[in-house]
Amino acid sequence: MSVQIFHSILETRSALEQVRRRGDSIGFVPTMGALHTGHGCLIETARRETDFVVVSVFVNPPQFDREDDFARYPRDLKSDVSFCESRRVDLVFAPEAEEMYPSPQRTWIEVTGLTEQLCGRFRPGHFRGVATVVLKLLNIIQPDRAYFGEKDAQQLAVIQRLVRDLNVPSSIIAVPTVRDPDGLAVSSRNRRLSAEERQEATAIYRALCRARERIENGATNAGEIKREAQAMLEAHHRLRIEYLEIVDAGEMQSVEHITGPVRVAAAVWAGSTRLIDNLLCVPGTR
Ligand code: AMP
Repeated sequence: MSVQIFHSILETRSALEQVRRRGDSIGFVPTMGALHTGHGCLIETARRETDFVVVSVFVNPPQFDREDDFARYPRDLKSDVSFCESRRVDLVFAPEAEEMYPSPQRTWIEVTGLTEQLCGRFRPGHFRGVATVVLKLLNIIQPDRAYFGEKDAQQLAVIQRLVRDLNVPSSIIAVPTVRDPDGLAVSSRNRRLSAEERQEATAIYRALCRARERIENGATNAGEIKREAQAMLEAHHRLRIEYLEIVDAGEMQSVEHITGPVRVAAAVWAGSTRLIDNLLCVPGTR
């Protein structure tokens, strides 16, 4: 059967009601479209674990802190739909902004504590926009399981917390980051990179790997580890570091002395394109 495409909340809800009535479980993959192998991995995991797979494609205005980033975000619903079809997705929910925000939104979800650092520090209002749209989508789809990538580790932590704090009856499933063969994390924004920027961007993964290697070998001084990773990035003149941090893996707070699992996380500009990546590091595992 080919994939069903709905633009309205009402139609989506009534299709999903039938799915639930026949006892099938629902897996949900929220995306902003421009689908790539990273999204593909989320979809494949959902396909394996649930009976009926829903993908949403919605470029959510409130989570963009910069107008130009929103305007330039790649959109191609037709190729997203064929991507979904080839991966046996059952339903694509692709609403217009007016469908999701028919009147000015006055209710916003703020997840405190987890959102003041890393991306939250540099993208004011971003996580408020993400948390609000994800809760709206979870309320519309009401999935048994919803799938998110570890590539956006802070986003994942925010969603896990939101679901716990607000008793949302969906399980949140984390999926490991998908990378190109040279290590660069796959992202919709990669297609904006020039050949030279794309080449230099591979330094991000190398710098994170070096930090992970040191932590696994028992290094505990976060400042020193960060300085070495920063120097590896600064050697490339097309790259500009927005942040490079070592945070604890649970609350995502900066640590100075590493005593348990941490994430090394970075946001780096390659020309006018902002890239993020992170690695989980567990001390003393080598
Ligand atoms: P986006 O369309 O960028 O909002 O991403 C939708 C979902 O795909 C989010 O849960 C992302 O974390 C996830 N995702 C994006 N890129 C990757 C990747 N390279 N590997 C795994 N998951 C990813």
